[in-house]
Amino acid sequence: MANDQDSAPVAQPNVFDPPARYYALSAYMRREFGGTVRKISVDAHFSCPNIDGTVGRGGCVFCDAASFSPSRQIGLVEIDDQIADGITRLQRRFDAKQFIAYFQPSTNTHAPVDVLERVYRSALRRPEIVGIAIGTRPDACPDPVLDLLATLARETWTTLELGLQSSHDRTLNWLGRGHDYGQFVDATMRARARNLQVGAHVILGLPGETREDVRTTARRLGTLGLHSIKIHHLYVVKGTRLERLWRAGEVALPTLEEYADLVVDFLERLSPETVVERVAGEVGDEYLVAPSWTAIKHAGRNAVDKALRARDSYQGKYYDPERRDPYA
Ligand code: SF4
Repeated sequence: MANDQDSAPVAQPNVFDPPARYYALSAYMRREFGGTVRKISVDAHFSCPNIDGTVGRGGCVFCDAASFSPSRQIGLVEIDDQIADGITRLQRRFDAKQFIAYFQPSTNTHAPVDVLERVYRSALRRPEIVGIAIGTRPDACPDPVLDLLATLARETWTTLELGLQSSHDRTLNWLGRGHDYGQFVDATMRARARNLQVGAHVILGLPGETREDVRTTARRLGTLGLHSIKIHHLYVVKGTRLERLWRAGEVALPTLEEYADLVVDFLERLSPETVVERVAGEVGDEYLVAPSWTAIKHAGRNAVDKALRARDSYQGKYYDPERRDPYA
């Protein structure tokens, strides 16, 4: 096993075809579905345990559920209408013919199982929908819900997306997440035991985290057989607790270049088989406070590509497949 600090890591070969340096979602979709597949954001109007009092009431420090999802911004309530609207919009914009229904805002497993099944299946009616992705929290994945998802996974492409953000409990505390890293590991293991595809969401450049902390999170996640990862930067949305902290000077955000370097550090320690769905966050201009580069289309992705080239690096360069302990 590699040493914990990987101060003298052994470089693995680049398994991607140049110029690719990480396993981008578009490449995965082409391989899996033979063409372009776009995700349609669907809002089932579920609540969140970290807001409705089940776990907490304050929500995460950065949270404004409306800013996360086009579906919530449009205000359509019926799932059928959201799917139909998404297909029309994305067909026009991307010439896509296949779509995945992505239950995105809030906690999409936070309801009785029979309700969940009805809602999930209602999103799968149109023939253009080739799969389903369920975004949720690690502490909202009881066994009956995972059993339902395992049943769906035998019928269609299915992924469970777990919001983690960091593997460091002190950071999760600061974020007001209301769950710890152990709950993420537990939910992931139970889902993987059912052959479910699991994706994780992380934020890099969080207050109080060092570069080594970011590398540790990547190394830990590399042990869990994740199907996919979404990497975000910390951006400040209007009206959130984070906005107040940022305006008070209590939160510093990394520069674009600093962030891109953190993403490269992270990718280097991730399994090359994990699909990278995004390398920076996106939010509508009407919600954004900072950092200003968030508003520049593809600024994050371009900066990460540039940093990968400058460091002659790639996903999995320092990945250790022998590493087994998700806590080490
Ligand atoms: S878990 Fe998600 S929806 Fe709930 S408060 Fe946090 S960011 Fe918002």
